[in-house]
Amino acid sequence: MPRMLLDIQNRGQLAAGMTTYDPRRNQLIDTHKRIGMVSEAFYLSRRKKGESLMREYAGRAAIGHVRYATCGAEDRSYAQPFERHHVEKRKWFSFAFNGQLTNYQELRNELLSDDKHHLARETDTEIIMHEICRQYSGDQKPTLLEMMANLDRLFDGAYSLVLLNAQGDMLIARDPLGIKPMCYAKEGSLFAAASESVPLLNLGFEPESIKSLLPGQAITIVNGKFEIANFVPSSRKAHCFFEWVYFANVASTLDERSVYQSRSNLGAELARLEMSDPLMTMPFDKDTIVVPVPDTSKAAADSMAFELGLPSREGLIRNRYSGRTFIEGSAGRKRKAQNKYTPLREVLEGKRVFLVEDSIVRSTTMKVLLDRLRSAGGAKEIHVRVACPPIIAPCFYGIDMSRVDELFAPKFMPDGNLTAEVQREMAKTLGADSLRYLPVEAVSRAIGFDRDQLCQACITGEYPTKRGQDLYEIALRQVGNGKTRTYENAAAELATHVK
Ligand code: SF4
Repeated sequence: MPRMLLDIQNRGQLAAGMTTYDPRRNQLIDTHKRIGMVSEAFYLSRRKKGESLMREYAGRAAIGHVRYATCGAEDRSYAQPFERHHVEKRKWFSFAFNGQLTNYQELRNELLSDDKHHLARETDTEIIMHEICRQYSGDQKPTLLEMMANLDRLFDGAYSLVLLNAQGDMLIARDPLGIKPMCYAKEGSLFAAASESVPLLNLGFEPESIKSLLPGQAITIVNGKFEIANFVPSSRKAHCFFEWVYFANVASTLDERSVYQSRSNLGAELARLEMSDPLMTMPFDKDTIVVPVPDTSKAAADSMAFELGLPSREGLIRNRYSGRTFIEGSAGRKRKAQNKYTPLREVLEGKRVFLVEDSIVRSTTMKVLLDRLRSAGGAKEIHVRVACPPIIAPCFYGIDMSRVDELFAPKFMPDGNLTAEVQREMAKTLGADSLRYLPVEAVSRAIGFDRDQLCQACITGEYPTKRGQDLYEIALRQVGNGKTRTYENAAAELATHVK
């Protein structure tokens, strides 16, 4: 399990955990979880302690999780899996989930309305746990598939979910829009599933055995019997495009689309924009180089450079031990960005640099980088190229950009239009010589899905679920009111309207 979690460490670095099932153990299912990276949570650099932990938790089946917080406190009690004890084996379960429920506040208010229930935490994970419990209350005995169908009627939002109970039964489910990814593989009696394909490949599964679970589908393993079925019909898809642009491991393939190839295609799109601009006056001479912001932008930068016949050079070295700026909590983002990259003067001095970034969310990293590239690197000109359209709207589905006012782009684009003038203003604010984003149409072309098969809400303001759209309308109204616009505030207001 730790090995698999290491392969998806990119998806969350706040905490890690696992639940295992062993019928020979007194405690049939048992959970270990800790704050920190996988290597810390599982004592991977402390051999004796790590081995003893794995002996203690050895079992026939396991589920695991790495936490990436969009809400809730940064303490152990929020780490997943969430285990719920019960004297009846079918009601004793542990589960982990990836995503975010957009109707969290409504579900919370509903649960608390009768004064019989109590919630100890500020997170949708706890709501899901209680809703699962309620499915098994009294003598109700839904199958795992029926339970998922019932949950789907309650939930709005994104959720990929895994569950293990004290009978050793397992469930893997993906929401009906397939917003979050879910891959699985089965060879003989060995079965594994993960948010991305990389851990499955590294476990030794043949690439052709690795598949994506379809939206609205669930895998159940009950009494050792493996089944895949729809728990709800899926009429449309809305895969999060940001997985391919930034979030997923570059070596993964999600929904049959390679992340690396998609990023390469985005780089080629950037090159095409460059070549088709009649106003492009920047000479491509021997002093012109392409520099990726490591690591997620490398595939796009290499591809853009190749198409333009320019060298792609490592002008920025990333400190690989500093973590990912974007997914770390709120405090210290700027300081972290300052410590994260070292400009290479040998590469940058006197150069015109095409700096390729996968996306600009808050602009904290970009501002720091531009400053460092000039002062420490000696770059002569810096032309920022972004392999993504401007992020203009919050994400309510589990990516940590839930406030409109924390985003860089919206204040420059009140009518949503990205013009040359807007990009000039943005470049000036950032301190770049020029800036160019990709248009929205380039994203679906690069990934290979039709536009209506992707969630692109954060670049279009069009949300694939009703509650997501409602939250956005409220978030926009709150901008006008000058209030702080967080997922929680907007969600609370929505809950008040709906009640
Ligand atoms: S809003 Fe953006 S980041 Fe969030 S799920 Fe949709 S595409 Fe992904």
